[in-house]
Amino acid sequence: MRSQRATEYIDLYIEGEFVQARRHPSQSPCPKCVRDLGFVTTTNDQGRPISKRCRCKGIDHRIKAFNQVGVPARYIDAELSSYKPRDLTGVEAVERANEFAWSFTPQSRGLLIYGGYGTGKTYIAASIIRVISLLRGYNVKFVEFSHLLSALQAEFNQSDRKRSYRGTSPSFKRSMTTASHVGLMQTLINAECLVIDELGEGRQSEWAKSVLEELITKRYNASGTTIITTNYDPRRNHIGDPEHLESRVGARLYSRLQQMCDPIPLFGIDYREGTEQP
Ligand SMILES: [Zn+2]
Repeated sequence: MRSQRATEYIDLYIEGEFVQARRHPSQSPCPKCVRDLGFVTTTNDQGRPISKRCRCKGIDHRIKAFNQVGVPARYIDAELSSYKPRDLTGVEAVERANEFAWSFTPQSRGLLIYGGYGTGKTYIAASIIRVISLLRGYNVKFVEFSHLLSALQAEFNQSDRKRSYRGTSPSFKRSMTTASHVGLMQTLINAECLVIDELGEGRQSEWAKSVLEELITKRYNASGTTIITTNYDPRRNHIGDPEHLESRVGARLYSRLQQMCDPIPLFGIDYREGTEQP
């Protein structure tokens, strides 16, 4: 199984559709604490033995946080230091992403990362998540826009007692319904940082638009941070163009996103098909 060392203590690996984290074998069981219980014994100033919380508890917290994000498997390597900018927008984007990730608090303004196919928008978003969740332990959710709509539709259609996610992959369902019985919508509203990938893709019903508006408005009211990636242009002087973000998501949602997120353009050539750097 492909795995990657993320930090000195944590490995990443792929399970189903998602990236997961676990303790590095050298840390399992923890070499610091007795029987992996999460406490180390030390002495206080008077020389008396005391118990302290072991560092492995912090590691486990961050692993747990990361494992419920839902980072797609293809972004296992996503790290800001590995992103190769193709033009000046890429250079600026990665700088801003780095600053955002390390200064993030749950009330931070969000980001709206936009640009053509394959410019590395999702890569940058996944790299930000890696810092916020895996290294800093915040509660983050990543959803692909098309999956999000079908899952919300399924949740809406279900009866109160029986939860069904028809049309949604089992692992997406698992990643979105953790131990509690909190519904998907509430899980997404509660996330300290929510990433919606490829906003505006596909054909959206009025129902989908209104549910999305409800989600974004509730996050806005709760001051939750939202990161959007989109292929559609959000700049105001392009309003009316069918390729404009407002045409894709509707005026109200568009306006809300303008209030919540700072735009980051990425105009570089196709990141996946670009030529090797010299
Ligand atoms: Zn320990």
